[in-house]
Amino acid sequence: MKGDRQDPRGMIWYVLRGTMMERWKPPVELTKQEQMVMKRLNRVRPLFGFLRLNRHVLFDDAFQDQLEAMYRQSGAGDEPHPPAMLCMVVLLQGYVGASDAEAVEFAIMDRRWQMVLDCHGVDDPPFSQGALQAFRERMVKHEMDRVLLERTASLVQDGVLTKGEGQSLSKAVRVAIDSRPLAGAGRVEDTLNLLGHAARNIVRVVSKILQRPAEEICRRAGIRLLLAPSIKTGLDIDWNDSRQKATAIQIVEHQVTSLVQWVERNLDDVIEAPLRSLFDTITAIREQDLIATKEGVRIREEVAKDRRISIEDAEMRHGRKSRSKRFDGYKEHIAVALDFPAILACAVTPANRPEEEGAAPLAKDIQQQGLSIGELHVDRAYVTSPVVSSVLGSGGHVVAKPWGQRAAKPGLYSKADFKIDLRAKTITCPAGQVERIEPGETVHFDPEACGGCLHRTNCTQAAAGKGRSVSVAEDEAQQKKFRALQQTRAGRATLRERVAVEHALAHVSARKGKTARYVGARKNLFDLRRTAAIQNLEAVHRLYREAA
Ligand code: SF4
Repeated sequence: MKGDRQDPRGMIWYVLRGTMMERWKPPVELTKQEQMVMKRLNRVRPLFGFLRLNRHVLFDDAFQDQLEAMYRQSGAGDEPHPPAMLCMVVLLQGYVGASDAEAVEFAIMDRRWQMVLDCHGVDDPPFSQGALQAFRERMVKHEMDRVLLERTASLVQDGVLTKGEGQSLSKAVRVAIDSRPLAGAGRVEDTLNLLGHAARNIVRVVSKILQRPAEEICRRAGIRLLLAPSIKTGLDIDWNDSRQKATAIQIVEHQVTSLVQWVERNLDDVIEAPLRSLFDTITAIREQDLIATKEGVRIREEVAKDRRISIEDAEMRHGRKSRSKRFDGYKEHIAVALDFPAILACAVTPANRPEEEGAAPLAKDIQQQGLSIGELHVDRAYVTSPVVSSVLGSGGHVVAKPWGQRAAKPGLYSKADFKIDLRAKTITCPAGQVERIEPGETVHFDPEACGGCLHRTNCTQAAAGKGRSVSVAEDEAQQKKFRALQQTRAGRATLRERVAVEHALAHVSARKGKTARYVGARKNLFDLRRTAAIQNLEAVHRLYREAA
């Protein structure tokens, strides 16, 4: 590039919109000092060594062009650090689980970090916490976390396949999808505490605006409950007394209303963000949790759909692992290639959303890589996703376990004992009775026929005057194919291929833990993509070692 110049440490300088932008070009050859460090990286944290040897491959010119484009697009070129170097820091952070502050320290204290980042023996950190946070936000804004994941997935593909195989795979890949629960980072609170917490945040902001102590704001705004360390301490009631308990929400609601009205009266000209969003939070909690009564309000008995459960993290939700096990937060979804060990795409959805909603963003990200899904292995929960119909519609295959056909009680006929003819749209019971069926509906056999049937005791526990009923799935034809798969040895082997995604999720879990690192779905998606990128790099490292 005309006008480029190279500094002594091998960084090439580019001119972007009038700002000097460093391109990261650290040396490829190992120095003697680095060779000593490399010797110690065989067993403990070996990815440091792999990243040092292959950083020029990972951050090739094409990828660095994309990273630098983040600055060109926004026109904000005041970042003095090479984007590729900061991207490497982001990866190292994910690899060792370091906070921003720790990453800065590691860069000046840890020889492995210094070797990978090409900053041996520096006294001043090569980046600041603020630069790191700004870079992460920039990556999220420009979807570069997705690009990083794609880059690592393509390295895995290159490491496994010949060029010819790669080209044939580029048309259609075999993919497995699954998810795991992720506990949210925000505190889950009941209605009283949600309202109290939101009100406390308002007082904090108002106190800053007016430059008056929070206690004074509480007194003047008539919300003395907040003078206590917690709302429940402030209420000071006997929680075993149902009448006192019922009045608690009245007191909280009365004082929160008093605060809102006081702020509106006294700060009406400054009720913008963040105050506006705090007011909206209070409105949302009232709408979801409270119901108006003659006395004022009471807490709803039923849980509102899409109920907000935390003030700190507005997007986390109640979810279920099973009927009896609940969790609060998100679901992390990943899509794994079955012909090479790479995670291709990630998605994060609030915990209350059905699994199938995770499939669409995964499919979209796979498509972005120029790939299509030729064979999709999914958990039963994803079967109703439009992605499944789309794969089938484009001539692909879908592999999933069928829904069970267990009898209501051991000894009774199960659905498997009935003959379903999808073409004729009929169902025939073991006694030969025939009924019409419609996909997605429950068929009821003639009560008269069932009443006098010799098989009745083996067939149904329905009350007298009622007949046997059988549910026909919306995708009954597909379920029939899934059941056929389970009947053969080859079919069962195909079903077992999904274990690859379960293993990948187990590694994600071991690396990230059970609790979210960030607040909000998008930031947690960034974290998941980073983890997936690290796992892909570890896969490439494994492949290189096997090939050596
Ligand atoms: S009870 Fe009804 S559905 Fe069951 S076998 Fe007899 S006739 Fe058929």
